[in-house]
Amino acid sequence: MTPSPEMQALLDEIRAEVRETRLYTGRAALSERVLQAFAEVPRHAFLTDVLRPAAYANRPLPIGHEQTISQPYIVALMTDLLDLEPDDIVLEVGTGSGYQAALLAKLVKQVYSLEIVAALAETARERLHRLGYGNVEVHQDDGHAGWPEHAPFDAVIVTAAAPDIPPALIEQLKPGGRLLIPVGDRYSGQDLLLIEKDRHGRVRRNSVLPVIFVPLTGAEPTRRPP
Ligand code: SAH
Repeated sequence: MTPSPEMQALLDEIRAEVRETRLYTGRAALSERVLQAFAEVPRHAFLTDVLRPAAYANRPLPIGHEQTISQPYIVALMTDLLDLEPDDIVLEVGTGSGYQAALLAKLVKQVYSLEIVAALAETARERLHRLGYGNVEVHQDDGHAGWPEHAPFDAVIVTAAAPDIPPALIEQLKPGGRLLIPVGDRYSGQDLLLIEKDRHGRVRRNSVLPVIFVPLTGAEPTRRPP
């Protein structure tokens, strides 16, 4: 399938931005497998009608409920950084429009995605079904607790920024697994963190890139009494 001219232009922009940010991310190019899958997901189908003309611009867009669909470059980069294999089982926290979940679904065996806003979960579930993504399950819940019934996961991707990494998400990662999460707030700034769990269960965290995400809501971290 030849990508549309709009998609082709977007892929070129993503390739260029990936090259420009290589000193941060350690990646000068995304894998062909990820780019191919990216080209096959119709981003316009995850937006409301009025925003469809902007669907292939390299920028985040509103999806209602004060939430956004991430910038295409960030979606492609995060997907690449997970180093996904066809047999993988992936957890996403923050389904939003379902766009990131659709891209993941093209690359792995099964995607489980949690969304805290009931209306967004409902719309995304219906949309993914209609578009034929049979290997994505969307559930309305607070992602802080992960999804123990389907754990452990080969990869976990969080698409909203948390003050800290929810411990359950690290626990539910397989040895050898990777977790991507933006950490920080809108004042101190956010960093995209890559957490790798080695074969012995040891955890290493690396900062990938400064980013801007909407906040992860729901369970507050435990606060010390004043
Ligand atoms: N991945 C999405 C973009 C998500 S924006 C896409 O491709 O469209 C972040 C999403 O995280 C929002 O939809 C927000 O409602 C959701 N969210 C915020 N806090 C959450 C939580 N604790 N658990 C699950 N989802 C959460």
